[in-house]
Amino acid sequence: MNENDLIYNFARQHAIGAAGLVAMLMPQTFSAGLGVKGLDGRYQLTNKTLEDLLCSDAPHLAGRVDSELFPAEAVSQLARADQRIMGGDVAVNQALNFSVKGSYVQCLWLEFPIHGPNEKLLFVGAAVIDMRRHQNVVELQKALERLQRNNQELQKSLFELDHLASTDKLTGTWNRRRLAEAVANEMDRLKRYKHPLSVLIIDIDFFKKVNDTHGHNVGDQVLTTLASVVQSGLRTSDSLTRWGGEEFVVLCPNTKLSTAAVLAERLRERLAQTTFPKVGHLTVSLGVAECTGSETWEQWLGRADAALYRAKEGGRNQVQFAPEVPAQPEPEGDMATSFVKLTWHPAYESGNSVIDNQHRGLFRDANNILGAMLSGTPPDEVAGLIKTLLADVMEHFRDEEVTIAAIGYPGVPMHARMHQKLIADAAGLSQRFEAGALNIGELFNFIAHDVIARHILKADRDYFSYLKAQ
Ligand code: GH3
Ligand code: MG
Ligand code: MG
Repeated sequence: MNENDLIYNFARQHAIGAAGLVAMLMPQTFSAGLGVKGLDGRYQLTNKTLEDLLCSDAPHLAGRVDSELFPAEAVSQLARADQRIMGGDVAVNQALNFSVKGSYVQCLWLEFPIHGPNEKLLFVGAAVIDMRRHQNVVELQKALERLQRNNQELQKSLFELDHLASTDKLTGTWNRRRLAEAVANEMDRLKRYKHPLSVLIIDIDFFKKVNDTHGHNVGDQVLTTLASVVQSGLRTSDSLTRWGGEEFVVLCPNTKLSTAAVLAERLRERLAQTTFPKVGHLTVSLGVAECTGSETWEQWLGRADAALYRAKEGGRNQVQFAPEVPAQPEPEGDMATSFVKLTWHPAYESGNSVIDNQHRGLFRDANNILGAMLSGTPPDEVAGLIKTLLADVMEHFRDEEVTIAAIGYPGVPMHARMHQKLIADAAGLSQRFEAGALNIGELFNFIAHDVIARHILKADRDYFSYLKAQ
C-alpha cells in the first residue's frame, strides 16, 4: 500500500468521533506525534512524541497556537490545512519542513476531523511522522491502523449500547433519551443558524376504550401500526419518538409552524383512514409548536402539549397550534467539552442499585479526567482525579464480586479473574504514576477502554440477567 492509498483509506473511515479521543490518548498507539486542536486553533491535547518533535524544552503544548510554534511558512501551510478540514475535507496530508532550536525537521503532517454527534466538527486532529526517523510509510501505516482499530472498537461498543438505550421496545421508535439528544443538537442549530424547528405531539383519542374492549395486546398492536403509518409519512430528517403510553412526538428540523401544521393535518387524515387490525378506525389529536429559540425544551414541548389539550377539548380528531412567542437571545454554553464524554444510559443499568451507582461513579470519574485534560487543568490536579478513580475501581470490584456470588451467578470465578487482571494492571499503572513515569493518556485509556468499554459495558452484562431474575 502506498502513502496515498493509506491516507485515502484513513480518510474514508471518516476519522475519529469525539469518544474516540480516548483511543488517541494512548501513547502506545503512536510512535507518531498526535495532536488535538480546538476550533480556536489552540492545542488541547498532544502526546509526548509531538511535544518532543516540536519543542523539547517546553513540555506542554496545550493552549498554544501554531504561530507560537512554527516559522511563518509552516504556519500558513497549517492554516490552509485547518481551513480545508473546517470546510469538510476528511483528511489533508502534507510534508512540513521547519527548524526548531537550530535543527531541521522534516515531517509528514496528516490532519483529520474529530466529530461530535451529528457529524458536528469539534476538533482538528493531527498525526505527525518524523521523516528523519521513519524512512518509509510502514511506520505511519501501523500507527494509523492501530489508532483506527482502537477507535472503532470503542465506537462500536458505544454505538451498540447507544442503540439499545435509544429505542422504544414495542414500536421501534426513538425513546425520550434519544429525542433529548436530537433536541439539544437541533436547538443549538436553531440558535446558531436560525433554522426553524417544530414539534408535533400525537395522542390517540379514547385509546383506553381500545384496551377495555379488545385487550392490551390489541392495544399494543395499534401502537405499532400507528408508529409505522406515521413514520412512513415523515421526511428522513424528521424523527418519531414514543413519548409514553399512547403519545408520540415528531421532531421536525428545518420546519416552521405553517409547514409543521400541514404535516400534522396530513398525518391526522392518514391515521383516520387507516384500518387498524381487529379495531377498525381510530382518530388522533395533535398539538404543534415551533421553537422560539429563547425557550427551553420543556417550555417548547409544554406549548405543544397545551395545544394538544385544546384539540382534545375542542372535540378531538383535530390539529391545534401553539401561539408563537417572541424570540430572545441567549448566551451559548461550552458545547465542545460537554460532548466529549462517556454518557451514562439507562440500558447500562443492572438493576442493582449498589452496582449501578458505582458504575455511574466510574463514568463520572473518567469524564472528570477527560474534562480536566481538555480544559488544561494542571497535571497535579489531574493526579488527584486519577487517585479517586483508581480507589473507586478497586472498591467497586470488591462489592461486585460479593453481589454476584450472592445471587448464584455461575461465572463468578471467571469474572473475578478479569477483575484480578484489571487490578494488577491498575497497580502497575499506579506504581508508575507514583514514580512520575506514567502518561496520563495511558491511564485514561485503561479506565475508558479496558474498564468501562470492555469490562462494564461488555463483560458485566453477562450477569445482569441473573440479577434481574432475582
Ligand atoms: P384521550 O382521548 O383523552 O386521550 O383518551 P385516552 O383514553 O386515549 O387517554 P387516557 O390518557 O385516559 O388513556 C390512555 C390509555 O393508554 C390508558 C392506558 O391503559 C393505555 N396505555 C398506555 N400505555 C400503553 C401500552 O403500552 N399498551 C397499551 N395497550 N395501552 C397502553
Ligand atoms: Mg389518548
Ligand atoms: Mg393520554
